Amino acid sequence: MLHSMFSMVTPSIFLKGFVKSMKFSLFFAIRIMNRALLKEIRKSIIFFLKQKIPFYAHKDQVIFDTNDVLKNDGTPYTVFTPYSKKWKELLREADYMRYLLDYSCFLNQDFVEIPSLSEIGFKKTDLIYLKPQLDEELIGQYDKFRDYPALQWTTQLGVALRFGTISIRECVAFALHSNGAWLDELIWREFFMQILYHFPRVVNQSFKAKYDNINWRNDEDEFQRWCEGKTGYPIVDAGMRQLNETGYMHNRVRMISASFLCKHLLIDWRWGEAYFAEKLTDYDLAANNGNWQWASGSGCDAAPYFRVFNPTVQTEKFDKELLYIKKWVPEFGSVGYATRIVEHRFARERALKIYQKAVRGNIE
Ligand SMILES: Cc1cc2nc3c(=O)[nH]c(=O)nc-3n(C[C@H](O)[C@H](O)[C@H](O)COP(=O)(O)OP(=O)(O)OC[C@H]3O[C@@H](n4cnc5c(N)ncnc54)[C@H](O)[C@@H]3O)c2cc1C
Repeated sequence: MLHSMFSMVTPSIFLKGFVKSMKFSLFFAIRIMNRALLKEIRKSIIFFLKQKIPFYAHKDQVIFDTNDVLKNDGTPYTVFTPYSKKWKELLREADYMRYLLDYSCFLNQDFVEIPSLSEIGFKKTDLIYLKPQLDEELIGQYDKFRDYPALQWTTQLGVALRFGTISIRECVAFALHSNGAWLDELIWREFFMQILYHFPRVVNQSFKAKYDNINWRNDEDEFQRWCEGKTGYPIVDAGMRQLNETGYMHNRVRMISASFLCKHLLIDWRWGEAYFAEKLTDYDLAANNGNWQWASGSGCDAAPYFRVFNPTVQTEKFDKELLYIKKWVPEFGSVGYATRIVEHRFARERALKIYQKAVRGNIE
């Protein structure tokens, strides 16, 4: 059973409650690469200083953080391929080795009651959380089958990586002997984290400034139909329903449905980003923002704006037998199914015109 992490408990409130109920002589925390949380982190440090409890924040969320991977001129990378090349060059065994733990210090502690999850502000949800596992067969064949949503041939470890219930070092060590394509996905994760760290403005703004000149249509009814999976484009609808029902959506379908919102419906990527943030159990600000900006064309190293995914062609390629669609949209093919919200060719031309105007009308 998964507990809701979206309650109003901020890290500093959580720490205060936690420390009050237990005795600490020192405190270790995992450092995260999110400048948006700096205020929270400062509050926690001040709190520990006042209590005279030594506080140590260590890297554990990623292999390389803050300024570990920079270009030779000391500036951050904004393109994935050279970033990943440098990331791999810098990698040493020590970066992904298991830490040797000395549990003996825990044995000397007096018994203390650990506060329950509800006491520290978490709420129960009805989502099922599977124990994270590194599956040799699945990861070994990841590159062959990852794009077919009906096969679900990806690890679904996003939520475990998000909350640290699996170690990134263990994943990287596994990927190194198992599958380079999967290692690249783990590097994408760190790529977007360092983008967010070095360019915190991406939280609200397009990475490429001129994309903020796009004259979005932002039709609220159409947005609602997209959220509910009633656009009449079955691959988009299947994805949105999978998301609404499970808190997860397959990566290929995330790409299609995000592109559809920005390009076909001309709705601001920030609306879609916020909806995904509310629904995804693996929600991560850096990954969500980076991928939304990638889909809208506004991000670093993004797909060019004139590449508009055709949902029908994507379906023919990745869900030919319509297995994924039929699973999530049972009424597909019947008269009860939604009519198309917009015609593809018309939407594509409209998007190209609006994007072109924004991108060419301004100097970056
Ligand atoms: C519009 C959109 C929004 C997204 N939002 C998120 C998000 O909020 N959180 C999130 O973790 N991923 C996000 N992704 C990336 C990707 O879709 C998910 O990481 C992946 O689908 C999770 O499934 P999995 O755990 O089976 O991944 P696998 O394919 O098994 O990959 C393993 C891990 O690598 C990382 N990873 C894989 N692909 C990416 C990527 N493109 N960018 C960054 N990290 C990646 C994730 O931590 C993932 O769990 C988004 C993608 C798109 C197109």
